[in-house]
Amino acid sequence: MVRRVAYRKAAVKVALLYPSTYRVAMSSAVYHMLYFKLQDEGFYVERFTVDKGPHGVEDGTPLAHFDYIVATVHYELDYVNLVKMLIDAGIPPRAADRRRPKLVVGGPPVAANPEPLAEFADAAAVGELEPLWGPLVQYLATGDEAEGLYYPARGPHPVEVKYAKHVEPDYRRMPEPEAAFSLAVELARGCPYSCLFCMESYVTKPYRPRDWRVVLDEAERLRSKYGVRPSIVALTANAHPGFKELLAEAARRGLRLSLPSMRAELLDEEAVELLAAVGQRTLTIAPEASERLRRALGKEITDEDVLRVAKKAGELGMRLKLYLMVGLPCERPADLEEVTSLMKEVRKVAGAVSLSVNPFIPKPQTPLQYSPMAPLAYLREKIEHLRRVHRGDFSFYDPVLGAVQAAISLGGRDVARHIEAAATSPPGYWRRALREGLFDYVFKPREDPLPWGHVKAFYPPEELRRRYLKYLEEACS
Ligand code: SF4
Repeated sequence: MVRRVAYRKAAVKVALLYPSTYRVAMSSAVYHMLYFKLQDEGFYVERFTVDKGPHGVEDGTPLAHFDYIVATVHYELDYVNLVKMLIDAGIPPRAADRRRPKLVVGGPPVAANPEPLAEFADAAAVGELEPLWGPLVQYLATGDEAEGLYYPARGPHPVEVKYAKHVEPDYRRMPEPEAAFSLAVELARGCPYSCLFCMESYVTKPYRPRDWRVVLDEAERLRSKYGVRPSIVALTANAHPGFKELLAEAARRGLRLSLPSMRAELLDEEAVELLAAVGQRTLTIAPEASERLRRALGKEITDEDVLRVAKKAGELGMRLKLYLMVGLPCERPADLEEVTSLMKEVRKVAGAVSLSVNPFIPKPQTPLQYSPMAPLAYLREKIEHLRRVHRGDFSFYDPVLGAVQAAISLGGRDVARHIEAAATSPPGYWRRALREGLFDYVFKPREDPLPWGHVKAFYPPEELRRRYLKYLEEACS
């Protein structure tokens, strides 16, 4: 049973909103953390998700009755859900038309580019929660614009992506059976690699590994308190210098863990055996593309690495899951042929293989932000080709959704009208808008200044451009 701050008329009321389903919301460690930390500050808090309607999960209070809405967003298409939730609750979605509730938004896509939500939000948390906690609490408690948050009403203005010097997550959790990964413990913040397409890595730099012993103790505490297998989360868990020690100690204590996608070149036989020993049934790696494109992207992973890991996973009876990307800049027929042969080889040595194919989606704050997305017809054809040759468990991300994701994340404030239109129109708005050419900028190269050019992340735009040009030199010549 979770202890809650009781309703008092005088308390500041904060709606904690996750613009996706309840199951997805409860799988987010930061959503759990916010729930407890906001109450620690004395705020009255209720949770809101798309599928629970415009009333709070706890006491059924209407969303419109809150003083603030704090929305954590992890996926650009959820911006539409956020606006729809406001409209369904009778709240004017645009900040200029609304006195209260005030809306504060945050999450990785907001840190990369807050402008697509700028017309709707009163404040944005650009960066990680820990360094922005003080300003956020001050803003919620007083309504005054505390320095540190980004206030869109001031117009696009310089803002720095904030990061935590020390990562000490809160491991209190709401024990929800619907939560897939809620018992997550962070092994590291950021990623030591910088694959040119990876927004998550570029907005969470620098890499900050935590002491693996502390992480393991936290995981064990969660397991004994809630009786569920904890997940270790990190962008590249096996880049952690103590990764094998952590697994070996977990195995010694009989602690079963769930782990995310791994870098194949860092997985030796011992590491794969240790993964199996802590109960990992599926091994996920992301070869992404042919070896030459992989190298140009910053993934120094050879086909031999992939086959070695696949073979070991097969020997241990683990399911192998592979991620591939199509439509990378300067992708050639020979790249897809190479990937196809690699898949065939993988199937020979591994047991069950699942393949997940994503279109390349250019994202802000990455070197490939300057690159166009491939035409939709091309992407569909390549995905279909891979589906035919794989002949096994197969999933893909719809290129139309990919283009919409790119259109939103690479957009400026003018994207607000499309987000609002999509939230109020029958299904099919985005497809129509794509057909009418409203998002053609997604399919063209981009130049500085970009709509998010005032957001200062770890690398300056000159460095991102330098890396992009180097990629072109390596992949296109
Ligand atoms: S290794 Fe993975 S998480 Fe790290 S930068 Fe590359 S794609 Fe992103």
